[in-house]
Amino acid sequence: MKAVRFHGQKDLRYEDIAIPKPGKGQVKLKPSWVGICGTDLHEYLGGPNLCPTTPHPITGEQVPLTFGHEFSGVIEEAGEGVYDYKPGDRVVVQPIIYDGTCGACLEGLINCCYSNGFVGLSGWGGGLSEHVVVPTSTLYHLPDNVSLEVGALVEPLAVGWHAVNVSPYKAGDAVLILGGGPIGLSVIQALKARGAGKIIVSEVSPRRREYAKQFGAHHVLDPAKDDIVAKCRELCEKQGVHVVFDCAGVQAGLDQAVHAVRARGTIVNVAIWEKPCSIHPNDLVFKERRYTGVATYVKGDFQEVIDAISSGKMTPHNMITKKIHLNEVEEKGFKTLINDKDNQVKVLVEVGGGR
Ligand SMILES: [Zn+2]
Repeated sequence: MKAVRFHGQKDLRYEDIAIPKPGKGQVKLKPSWVGICGTDLHEYLGGPNLCPTTPHPITGEQVPLTFGHEFSGVIEEAGEGVYDYKPGDRVVVQPIIYDGTCGACLEGLINCCYSNGFVGLSGWGGGLSEHVVVPTSTLYHLPDNVSLEVGALVEPLAVGWHAVNVSPYKAGDAVLILGGGPIGLSVIQALKARGAGKIIVSEVSPRRREYAKQFGAHHVLDPAKDDIVAKCRELCEKQGVHVVFDCAGVQAGLDQAVHAVRARGTIVNVAIWEKPCSIHPNDLVFKERRYTGVATYVKGDFQEVIDAISSGKMTPHNMITKKIHLNEVEEKGFKTLINDKDNQVKVLVEVGGGR
């Protein structure tokens, strides 16, 4: 079968590999649509970082590895002991790989597993291949009224959903979101789905500011021109916002965030940073501000996102800005996202499951 595998920096190959067989408690599925993620781009441009170069503690695999961790698909074959899933079922894959035995996992924090990994980054194949085998614990059924295309958006939406779940945000709070990329847009939609108060987005790209508005931001600011701190105070009772979601991961944004958040407010970091940043602890101390990190999602987030889409509380379809085929991933997918970043949100790869 064909697969897109990551061999190393700027070395992505469309190549033939063996078709996997489902074992006990596993299913073989044909991916339908696969999103390309910022994490994939980081690996391609500067990696391997997350992709293991020595055997991963759970999968035992290392590069070259099949890419693709945001995907929907159709079950082709159920392995031994699998009764909840049958050929033809439409599903999405929650790609976290966890050991289920460490302290974090035992507390339900599978996203913080001390050995964690991802389908499509750490082994067990990935969405960018004609077939993939995963354990049924990764699967969620898609309701009839949610398309396989939109199914591929559940993973990035779950990141934003989880960030809001874990944050101290409560209905009616004012929020500042730094960055209007796919994750910033996911946070906006998660907030809208629960009746957001005031959503302010800071984003340099005009096209991305348009997207932010389209998905429900009440105020969009340009950090190159606007004074973000002054604007946030002006819009929020001269105090600033209750919660900041940092979906950009740049020092200049953090410098503003620290002063744009009110007393006892919280800065939630969702971004993956390329290098360390600095923060003056006194800026937290004297206003009792908090700074916290969130990572991916836990069990429950995927189902909540699927339910929000199915019930019409979220309508994420317009996040899809381009569709390509499996043999075009590097040229029309990765290179488009690198060179035409401002005009793209999600590039989806059609693999063919469910057609
Ligand atoms: Zn664990």
